[in-house]
Amino acid sequence: NETVSKNFIENIIDEDLAEGVYDTVHTRFPPEPNGYLHIGHAKSILLNYGLAQKYNGKFNMRFDDTNPTKEKSEFVESIKADIKWLGADWEDRLFFASDYFPQMYEAAVKLIKKGKAYVCDLTADQIREYRGTLTEPGKESPYRNRSVEENLQLFEEMKDGKYQDGEKVLRAKIDMASPNMNMRDPVIYRVAHMTHHRTGDTWCIYPMYDFAHPIEDAIEGITHSICTLEFEDHRPLYDWVVRELEYPQPPKQIEFAKLYLTNVVTGKRYIKKLVEDGIVDGWDDPRLVSIAALRRRGFTPESIKMFVELCGVSKANSSVDYAMLEYCIREDLKFKRPRMMAILDPIKLVIDNYPEGQVEYLEAPNNMENEALGTRKLPFGKELYIEREDFMIEPPRKYKRLFVGAEVRLMNAYFVTCTGYEADDDGTVRVVHCTYDPATKGGNAPDGRKVKGTIHWVEASNAGKATVRLYENIVDEEKGVYNKEDGSLNVNPNSLTTVTAYVEPVLMEAKGYDSFQFVRNGFFCADIHDSKEGEPVFNRIVSLKSSFKL
Ligand code: ATP
Ligand code: MG
Ligand code: MG
Repeated sequence: NETVSKNFIENIIDEDLAEGVYDTVHTRFPPEPNGYLHIGHAKSILLNYGLAQKYNGKFNMRFDDTNPTKEKSEFVESIKADIKWLGADWEDRLFFASDYFPQMYEAAVKLIKKGKAYVCDLTADQIREYRGTLTEPGKESPYRNRSVEENLQLFEEMKDGKYQDGEKVLRAKIDMASPNMNMRDPVIYRVAHMTHHRTGDTWCIYPMYDFAHPIEDAIEGITHSICTLEFEDHRPLYDWVVRELEYPQPPKQIEFAKLYLTNVVTGKRYIKKLVEDGIVDGWDDPRLVSIAALRRRGFTPESIKMFVELCGVSKANSSVDYAMLEYCIREDLKFKRPRMMAILDPIKLVIDNYPEGQVEYLEAPNNMENEALGTRKLPFGKELYIEREDFMIEPPRKYKRLFVGAEVRLMNAYFVTCTGYEADDDGTVRVVHCTYDPATKGGNAPDGRKVKGTIHWVEASNAGKATVRLYENIVDEEKGVYNKEDGSLNVNPNSLTTVTAYVEPVLMEAKGYDSFQFVRNGFFCADIHDSKEGEPVFNRIVSLKSSFKL
């Protein structure tokens, strides 16, 4: 689409294609399988996949599983499920960096043979000390000038398990005086006697990220290796690795800004604590922004895609308001989902002039703005439930709902006029009384008289009782995400409210992930874990009111 302006990455790609640097576009998403994906990863996934699609190129799914400490197969499966759900299709291009361990080892040997890598016996602390500071050049390691033969032998011994963890490392021989600290002879291989989730105990040496990643990209024929801004300083090393290894068509690293949401927790450490403390019920608790949590809450892939596109792609870090994500899900669902009636805070409404024991079925559109969703039959009778806030004993001026003497429309049904109420001694209203006008069936008066308010309702004898969960941010927004003293999370104690709602009977058939608009109350989704046959639990995805304007 020529009218849409391009982002800076597309400009780079256009130039590369025009100049013949590459004749195709090949991207990848390379998560480390050490946790669940969150909304920030969704941005990276959709960006990489979107570019491959736009340029008719290819998209690889690659697990960057070169560090066995925190990696688990469980995460591999959850990550795959999340990416599929988002709609990014890697077809048959699913790769594991651990499959390249033999090539990485060979690459290291090649560097040693070129005199570009050496085995170093300094401890981790000494290496740090020797590295120097930003204002001071580093000091060369006493092992820097080992012969190629000695290095080859020592590196092989490292591989063969002759050394303990930390006893020896392989370092790239670059420049201890470089102004870029990453270029001061970085460690590229370390000894680690650990069992890898895929390669088991085959290896006791593992490559470092900065060495492994460019090799992974080069092996797969990646053209544009997109990563986040914190790797900008590592790009010279990335370029050094692909140059020294003499790949014929080296990949290019491009950095973009991470997606941050204001007052939202994404840090694994913090989410782990919330799970451990029992504040949330898992990594997919609907108050979190992991992809699994968003899916459980009722977000759609389309809404997340819209959100990511609205955020744009840039080189400058910034933080986006959660309200924008809410805007996107409202936009996506408003025409797609049926608009049903549910009463979250019920009081009874009795229609005194309606025949005792009679129930009639009224036809109601499922979505006034989308006829394709059809209609349904709604039971209507003498006793209904309405929202407590839709009746007031002493209404303020401009109150358009029920009070004694007021006439309102019951949505999809009749006009009713309030005639009285019953209340406890403390003023709590128990029952509201009214009369209805049979001539207003369907919600309009033949005499043309108008009413100011329309309220929703559920017929009492057929109503289902469902558990409904209402959410607020799990972060105390007044205080900000982190406690300034001890770095802990500022948790909002009111992030979850559970109510029992009266709902239209058809809603009782809802299954996990089914979502609906509950008129005036928001969008709701049946919980995938806690709903049982005939006993749905609904999570509020988002209310209908919005402070966010595009
Ligand atoms: P860590 O796992 O160390 O907490 P991470 O989640 O960034 O950090 P990866 O699993 O390696 O680590 O991330 C996979 C990809 O997702 C990387 O290319 C990374 O740049 C990208 N990514 C991670 N977080 C964000 C974010 N907030 N916004 C955009 N892209 C992100
Ligand atoms: Mg990660
Ligand atoms: Mg990482």
